[in-house]
Amino acid sequence: MSLIVQKFGGTSVGDIERIRNVAMRVSKTFDEKNDVVVVLSAMSGVTDSLIKMAEQAAYSPDKRELDVLLNTGEQTTVAILAMMLKGMNYPAVSLLGHQAKILTNSDFGNARIGGINADNIRKYLDQRIIVVIAGFQGMDSNGNLTTLGRGGSDTTAVAVAAALKADICEIYTDVDGIYTADPNVCKKARKLDKISYDEMLEMSSLGAKVLQIRSVEFAKKYDVPIHLRSSFSLEEGTMVVNEYSDMERLVVSGVTHSKNEARITLKKVVDQPGIAAKIFTPIADAGILVDMIIQNTRAEGLTDLTFTVPKSDFKKAVEIETKVAGEIGAEAVLVDENVAKVSVAGVGMKNHSGVAARMFSALARDNINVLLISTSEIRISCLIEEKYAELAVRVLHAEFGLDK
Ligand code: ADP
Ligand code: ASP
Ligand code: MG
Repeated sequence: MSLIVQKFGGTSVGDIERIRNVAMRVSKTFDEKNDVVVVLSAMSGVTDSLIKMAEQAAYSPDKRELDVLLNTGEQTTVAILAMMLKGMNYPAVSLLGHQAKILTNSDFGNARIGGINADNIRKYLDQRIIVVIAGFQGMDSNGNLTTLGRGGSDTTAVAVAAALKADICEIYTDVDGIYTADPNVCKKARKLDKISYDEMLEMSSLGAKVLQIRSVEFAKKYDVPIHLRSSFSLEEGTMVVNEYSDMERLVVSGVTHSKNEARITLKKVVDQPGIAAKIFTPIADAGILVDMIIQNTRAEGLTDLTFTVPKSDFKKAVEIETKVAGEIGAEAVLVDENVAKVSVAGVGMKNHSGVAARMFSALARDNINVLLISTSEIRISCLIEEKYAELAVRVLHAEFGLDK
């Protein structure tokens, strides 16, 4: 008998029939004498349409109220699954994030879990009741509802598994494992049997949305084994574990892309000490993460400063920089939302030179222009035009010998 956490993503609960499929899987796991905690996402598309609705209500919707709205997506699915299970004569109870005592900070829209008091969940498990928890939701210390950022149900699942010391956290989704690149973009991507927490952290941070990065951070910190697998088949998926996989032998172990990028340029900024701080401090104070930065020197002691931020923070960043531009006398603020970031990553890169040159040459052969570059010891990222994102992934996947 094991304690198993099973998380089902948006497509897996996309309609009533699919939720019935979830109920069958959950009840089977329960029949096999396991204790089962289920974590659900909202039905696919629901979170997106709630955000659209909010944007019709206000230009920049209040973040606290937006979280109250977004909480409704997951509330729907847990209620439906719990009533379905009860209708099938299985003992079940639905819990919203605050009822499951998932406590977060007050960073609405992107809250971090500070702790989980698992007593309430355990009370039900002790009575052999299936606990169905709403993913993505939390509550701050003032009792406000929060959400954990897009894809946050993964993090709910792993955090609950850690709090309960579950034997395994199974993440059910619409692909049958973790691949060397997004299998929906690159048909030649290869499925991995295993991947290490560190490699998965790198892939998630570079845009592989198959697991939210914070879920991998939790898994690594608390040593929670994750089994990522398909909700539509019984096939084994990919294990995310605390050891290196075969991928280590390759120079590049994965290719990722992210369309959640926007580029901002401040034109004709005076080139003197303290200016960069004036530009980036208010952005940091607003909790916006700046990723890539480049400075182009012009004549007459002026420079153009370009950087990227997540598309979701784009409006706020432009608002801030328009104000800063006025203060420091920059000529203009230019913006571009039609960009994407492609990255190659792998621990093998540490011991190889020339990876960047190969990456640029491969992109150039297909006429893909590189707009910005950033590197670390184990990855290289290029900002390119958004329309080339998928092509760039396939080109780089082939270039670094990852095609099957
Ligand atoms: P869910 O709604 O179940 O949480 P997501 O859409 O968040 O599912 O994540 C699954 C998707 O992640 C897949 O459909 C796939 O397109 C994408 N993905 C991106 N990179 C990878 C990768 N390296 N391996 C597998 N899937 C990936
Ligand atoms: N429903 C949320 C989202 O779409 C959380 C999740 O699915 O993990 O981002
Ligand atoms: Mg997801």
